[in-house]
Amino acid sequence: MTLTDTDLTHLRRCVELAREALEQGHMPFGSLLVGADGTVLLEERNEEGGGDHTRHPELALSVWASTHLTPQERAGATAYTTGEHCPMCSAAHGWVGLGRFVVAVRSDQLIGWLEEWGEGAWPVAPLPIEQVVPGAVVDGPAPQLEDEMRALHRARIERDRAQG
Ligand code: ZN
Repeated sequence: MTLTDTDLTHLRRCVELAREALEQGHMPFGSLLVGADGTVLLEERNEEGGGDHTRHPELALSVWASTHLTPQERAGATAYTTGEHCPMCSAAHGWVGLGRFVVAVRSDQLIGWLEEWGEGAWPVAPLPIEQVVPGAVVDGPAPQLEDEMRALHRARIERDRAQG
């Protein structure tokens, strides 16, 4: 399934959330959980700047869904996010039984940018969602949002390097 105009609208909101996260001292990632009827149920931003590197927005969506939605509601919900889920967040999504994944940027794109900029490897393997969640329905990337996300990640690196 390709990205619809509605998908792009939700992903653009995720990019705004990522920008806010960056401005607040965190990593530029933002996510939305959208119900089967199209209602936005939850917005989350990355909060790693405080030192807890598990504060990913995609994980927060799954934790929230586990206590606020029925199994049927979870299965009908879509997780939108600026960057493909890491294995931790993919696993959480799979464990709580959320539905479709929609990502603006794939992990292999982001890893490529980080390598290009001389950044070190992640402490966790950047496995594709499909390797962590069998049968996952994953849509993306969104080429329309690539330049903007690349700029946000570049800005994060410039900030961290300036802070030494
Ligand atoms: Zn994650």
